[in-house]
Amino acid sequence: MEKIRNKSIAERMNKMSYQNFNVSVYCPVSNINKITDFEDFDRKFKLLYGNVKIGRAYLECYRGMEWCDKEQLLKVKSFFESKGIATSGGITTCDDSNNEGFISLCYSTEKGQEILKKAVTLNAEVFDELIFDDFYFLNCRCEACIKQKGDRSWSQFRLDQKKWITEEIVMKTAKEINPDINVIVKYPQWYEDYNETGYDLKMEPALFDSIYTGTETRNPTYAQQHLPKYLSYFVMRYLESAAPGRNLGGWFDPYECTYNITSYLEQGYLTLFGKAKEVTLFCLDSLIKDSDYRTFPPALGQMFEEVDSYLGKLGKPVGAAAYRPAYGRGENNLHNYLGMCGVPMEPCIDYPEQAKVIFLAESAADDTLIAEKMKKSLIGGADVIVTSGFVRKLGDIFKKEFVNVTYSSRKAIVRDYADTKNNGVSVSGRYSGDKEILIPQLDYCTNDIWELAAAYGTDNNFPIVLRLSFGAGRLSIITIPDNMGDLYHYPEKVLNVIRNLFSAEMPASLEAPSKIQLFAYDNDKIIVRSDLDYYESVTLHLSDRFTVVRDMIKGVEIPVKDHRVTAQITPGVNYVLELK
Ligand SMILES: [Zn+2]
Repeated sequence: MEKIRNKSIAERMNKMSYQNFNVSVYCPVSNINKITDFEDFDRKFKLLYGNVKIGRAYLECYRGMEWCDKEQLLKVKSFFESKGIATSGGITTCDDSNNEGFISLCYSTEKGQEILKKAVTLNAEVFDELIFDDFYFLNCRCEACIKQKGDRSWSQFRLDQKKWITEEIVMKTAKEINPDINVIVKYPQWYEDYNETGYDLKMEPALFDSIYTGTETRNPTYAQQHLPKYLSYFVMRYLESAAPGRNLGGWFDPYECTYNITSYLEQGYLTLFGKAKEVTLFCLDSLIKDSDYRTFPPALGQMFEEVDSYLGKLGKPVGAAAYRPAYGRGENNLHNYLGMCGVPMEPCIDYPEQAKVIFLAESAADDTLIAEKMKKSLIGGADVIVTSGFVRKLGDIFKKEFVNVTYSSRKAIVRDYADTKNNGVSVSGRYSGDKEILIPQLDYCTNDIWELAAAYGTDNNFPIVLRLSFGAGRLSIITIPDNMGDLYHYPEKVLNVIRNLFSAEMPASLEAPSKIQLFAYDNDKIIVRSDLDYYESVTLHLSDRFTVVRDMIKGVEIPVKDHRVTAQITPGVNYVLELK
């Protein structure tokens, strides 16, 4: 853990509304300005605090050209504090939307710089802590921005400008007024696109006192951001690796979740499975005044009680070391699609030199030294797993340094698959997926590399998993369908081959269809959770050292046979298991 930077962070760590975590509510400026009759507000607020132990309220002073004045901020602050709820400030650095999507403030002109400085000043005068909601990005392309950008890419211009405003406006202003203030930047859940809008997982954690994680997932099919549910866990862990010990919590909201209240709660479960120290609920009025969400607060209360009963017994999260460099991009959200297929991952922003199982998706190929790092790991005996997108991006270097496999321009439509019983000497079986999917064809040389799983074509077949030995290690390549969501249509037998690649260091692996998630901890505890719409029989293949499985919630032992347990599991329910 890095050294905690200031007193405010240290203090907040000791204040938790539950035994294992704190729960906060975020209060946007428009909500705060409406609080005039405090008795009436208290009656409405009771829907939340009557169900959920609220330990903190973030009180926002600016959003989209609406301001809260200091007098009102102080009144609302003392109301919350009279109820034993700590308070912090908040700022949302957006402009009026003008119906053009979300528009960030423009800092190429004095107007945006002044708004930022005024908001930071107001917060630092009132609070010992302030958080930036996830609009601290840059997407302006006004004439002043075009001119300032010059020859740089938009990404580079924005990264540079962000560093300047953070150092010169935010941190200088805040610390001059309140040297001990804890300034937090909350990152959005769309980590794949951070750099394009100026979010920087190297520079910002170095400048800010602490960070916060957006863990919002929505309906993955019908919502704009196409976010697989596993993201709520993955992004929490990924940002923890960017600022170890200074990632103060995870944050989610109810939007686009009314189709299924379990999907709303799942954000909270997974945020906490990722060991968040605090959960922030966005936002006050949605949860206490909007009739669309009136059933959510009681459900939240039950969720927090449930997780609090076992979270302290779970060790440190573990999984295959998934390296995603801070400035990498590619195969958008692939880690989360694989997570939905029951592959436990522990993301890392720096290359995991010590790891025994390393996963490299397309984004890892943006590290210009990746081939050297990989080679060292493989020679040292690690299992390195790469994707077809990684092979494509690394191109000739991959072919020259590792094996003659290339990402061809040919595609195949496939539905039937094989695995192997003899390490790829022959493929066998015929397992049908539930629909046809489109995959890229990888060119490879038979007898130099082996198919552990394949898809059948007419008088032909195409690799789904390839593997070879390299030094003391093994290198595997997974073919990712053109639509990454089609990973869910690989049949169980193929998914089992993929899961096996990742499972060498894991206490157990799944034998099940897709949409069953597995979370693992370093003290032999695991959680299994189904996102299927139906009851399904699932097998857990235990590592050889275990002979007993105990359900920690129900307090019962589940019979183990040949290191396997099979049980029918209920959708949306957490199976928290102790392996002995
Ligand atoms: Zn601009």
